[in-house]
Amino acid sequence: VRSSITGKTIVAGVVGAPVGHSLSPILHNAWLADAVIDGVYVAFPVAPDWFADFVAGLRGGAVRGLNVTVPFKLAALAVADRRTPRAQAAGAANLLIFHEDGSIDADNTDGEGLLAAFAEQAAGFDAAAGPILIHGAGGAARGAAAAFLEAGCREVRLINRTAERADALARQLGPRLKVLSGDTDGVAEVIAIVNATSLGLGGGAGPVVDWARVDARTIAMDMVYRPLETGFLKSARRHGLRTVDGLAMLIGQAKPSFRALFSHEPPAATDVRRIALAALEAAS
Ligand code: NAP
Repeated sequence: VRSSITGKTIVAGVVGAPVGHSLSPILHNAWLADAVIDGVYVAFPVAPDWFADFVAGLRGGAVRGLNVTVPFKLAALAVADRRTPRAQAAGAANLLIFHEDGSIDADNTDGEGLLAAFAEQAAGFDAAAGPILIHGAGGAARGAAAAFLEAGCREVRLINRTAERADALARQLGPRLKVLSGDTDGVAEVIAIVNATSLGLGGGAGPVVDWARVDARTIAMDMVYRPLETGFLKSARRHGLRTVDGLAMLIGQAKPSFRALFSHEPPAATDVRRIALAALEAAS
């Protein structure tokens, strides 16, 4: 934790509603302290009606940049003057950078975080090796589908409670995205199953999967990280599958965000996973 704020302190943060539970300030401030950067990263709780005004007021760069979380990722993309191709493909932004000339850049590092999580916890995973099944069709599912397609995946299968939302996603992302009804045929041959719904948050059951039909080499990934050991990941493990957790993705998206916000590499020696686990433990 930094001990002094100066007149030159770089301010960045995360905006959401609610945002008080966010682990991002803990991750970024740990890196700032270890890198000895004169910067601070805070959480900005903003009521949904005031998001556009809040961001407009930051034009000019009083704040260097913001991560963006639920429910503002779509609005963040819309408010920007420039959008990276990956933010455009995801249809959402989780990072805004404010420039002195008043302009705003939007990026999306969630897909990079997802692929980094697979690289870290599922050695040898190759997104191009086979179809991938995603549960969900919200902002997170959309970013994941775009990232897997970009990484060479030949078919992304989507199951969502609200079929129209999945259909809309398929229309945008093209023919390599297939919408399935809730039946279990979709699990055949998949190399990964990703939970990108909020099911399982707070300890409930995740999406229903017929694990008996899933190939033993398939990797199960859950974006939910409260609890870290979700019901979805537990049942996958009981069937002998390798798993990837949502905290690895959170840290994976925070690293490129930190680089963009503070023009500095996050110090590799900082054990942010241990720090985040301690914070999750303290909050439970
Ligand atoms: P979102 O846009 O609100 O989408 C929520 C998704 O969950 C939709 O597909 C929704 O289906 C589904 N869903 C919600 N309640 C359901 C229920 N009772 N039964 C069936 N489906 C249900 O949220 P999001 O931004 O995509 O985030 C999804 C999850 O990913 C959240 O838990 C979020 O915290 C997590 N996430 C994690 C990371 C990370 O770094 N680890 C990053 C991003 C997101 P409908 O379309 O039918 O409503």
